[in-house]
Amino acid sequence: MDLIDLHIHSSASDGTCAPADIVRSAARAGLKAFALTDHDTVSGLAEAAEEAAAAGIEFIRGIELSTNTEDRLSVHILGYWVPENCPDEQFEVFRLTRDNRNARMIERLNSLGIPQTFEDVSAESEGEALGRPHIAKALCRKGVVRSMKEAFDLYLGSGGMAYVPREPLPPSEAVSLLKGLGCTVSLAHPMLIGGGERKAEEIARGLVPFGLDAVEAYHSSQSSWDERFLTGMAKSLGLLVTGGSDFHGGNKPGISIGKGKGSLRVGYGVLGALIRSREQRGLPV
Ligand code: AMP
Ligand code: FE
Ligand code: FE
Ligand code: ZN
Repeated sequence: MDLIDLHIHSSASDGTCAPADIVRSAARAGLKAFALTDHDTVSGLAEAAEEAAAAGIEFIRGIELSTNTEDRLSVHILGYWVPENCPDEQFEVFRLTRDNRNARMIERLNSLGIPQTFEDVSAESEGEALGRPHIAKALCRKGVVRSMKEAFDLYLGSGGMAYVPREPLPPSEAVSLLKGLGCTVSLAHPMLIGGGERKAEEIARGLVPFGLDAVEAYHSSQSSWDERFLTGMAKSLGLLVTGGSDFHGGNKPGISIGKGKGSLRVGYGVLGALIRSREQRGLPV
């Protein structure tokens, strides 16, 4: 079976590998196609597209937008076939809520007596979208914690001493923005939202009127039980499915491109169905 990976992060957001390195890893993994889906930025796509063309591997221009429900659940929305001329400013509001929240977490750290600055944190990133992994790295570098895991367990994870949730930014806004750009839109890792199957279903159903096309049925953190549930849910809502590893390089150890934690398998047929659906609607592929 030809395999694909439709969920990958590079150093343009909070992954550790440059876009060109991602292409080489995808080719080495024998993938037929892959998408780069950095958080809230398209700044890595040009490099990846160029390398992918040279390597002869099918490439889908993607993005993963971070949103928050009123009840402070974190909902990620994947967009595919982001147009080539799309300026990164389109996604600025998503990066701004990121920056505000990072600043508030840094203030919390300061009030705990940890002299962390915004400059320390941005020094940990080569990209456009700063996030908790960069704060975690800065804490490691300062010797405040011994590992990223400790940084999340003690300070940055939900329940951590410096944790601040993001301001509400409705998932429907992300779906509408991406649909307006002509993207195919998928609800990312529904089982990671944190409200179980019922909440996942409720959120997906609520996004259908905004044009949601698919749900991410296959993901490194989702079990085969979850895959069956989400595939069934997609069918009953009239949606397609997507899938990918959510590779972040060294920022999420144990996850590899195309294979996830080892058992992930996303077949080319998943992409084939997305392409057919776009063709039926006259959208470019
Ligand atoms: P942010 O987008 O700033 O909320 O950061 C979310 C990112 O932090 C995720 O995409 C992961 O890369 C990373 N992350 C979240 N929780 C953990 C954790 N417990 N350990 C390590 N990395 C984590
Ligand atoms: Fe991430
Ligand atoms: Fe995500
Ligand atoms: Zn992701």
